[in-house]
Amino acid sequence: MNLMEFNERFPNEYSALMSVKQLRDKQGVICRKCGYDQHYWQQTVESFQCKNCGARQRLRSGTIMEQSKLPYRLWLMAIHLVTATKKSFTALELQRQLGYKRYEPIWYMLHKIRTVMGKRDSEYELTGYIELDDAFFEVGDPHQKPNKAGRGSTGKAGVLIAVESEPTANQFRKKNRKEGRKCGKLTMQVVSNITGKHVESLVDGKIDESATLHTDGHKSYNILDQIVNRHHITISNDPKRISKLFTWVHTAISNVKRVILGIHHSVHSPYLQNYLNKFCWKFNRRYDQKNQFERLLHTGLQYRWC
Ligand SMILES: [Zn+2]
Repeated sequence: MNLMEFNERFPNEYSALMSVKQLRDKQGVICRKCGYDQHYWQQTVESFQCKNCGARQRLRSGTIMEQSKLPYRLWLMAIHLVTATKKSFTALELQRQLGYKRYEPIWYMLHKIRTVMGKRDSEYELTGYIELDDAFFEVGDPHQKPNKAGRGSTGKAGVLIAVESEPTANQFRKKNRKEGRKCGKLTMQVVSNITGKHVESLVDGKIDESATLHTDGHKSYNILDQIVNRHHITISNDPKRISKLFTWVHTAISNVKRVILGIHHSVHSPYLQNYLNKFCWKFNRRYDQKNQFERLLHTGLQYRWC
């Protein structure tokens, strides 16, 4: 969908509201009081009313828009811009594009969108052959230098990154292949430290136990021997060899760092996960560009942001 098509589909606030209403109808509205699934639509109060007990439910309730006063059309336009643009953008840029007076509601809206992107992706588990590595991201004030380099320094946040990297029979380099490996789904998790406990929690939530994990042999990854099917370790001082063997995880790390440094310059640590959520969500749907708007809108109506 381009901007012209968006304007044709949602020419005004009413059309946006009715699209949200129809989509919620399609997903199925369940009464919070009695669990009944049949409702009347009350246009004047923008609410569903249960046919059994009469309890009302606002159109926004239980969705990403709950507690927001921003118009529906603005939400849909933000979702459109997030999904239709290749490059990332800041909340300030979004505020400019939407022509909205206040910055804070737009900033919150964008973070809510990024939060539900993460919620949706957390339902998938990575499987098969997986490259796992960690990286440190500078967080907070960009002008404040971190105290020390490497693992665990202040001013930096640790992130565990895992990406499916299936070996393929076809050795030719194609757009989605490197050195005979096909890149699948990606996940990134901010952790307070890179320890065995954190690695275990990543595997618990986001990686199938039957997977084979490939790491650089850092001691935090020893735990993998006990919790996944297979754990391959490569210890090497040869950067070329390492970059070949961890080709996709290193590509993901450098790309996300470029986005964060290039566009957002610096992020505050509590929000880093949200930036990573958005990066992963878009990456995981890179071959389904044309349906990204519908998919994100659908997700936004299914998940509350808090
Ligand atoms: Zn009811």
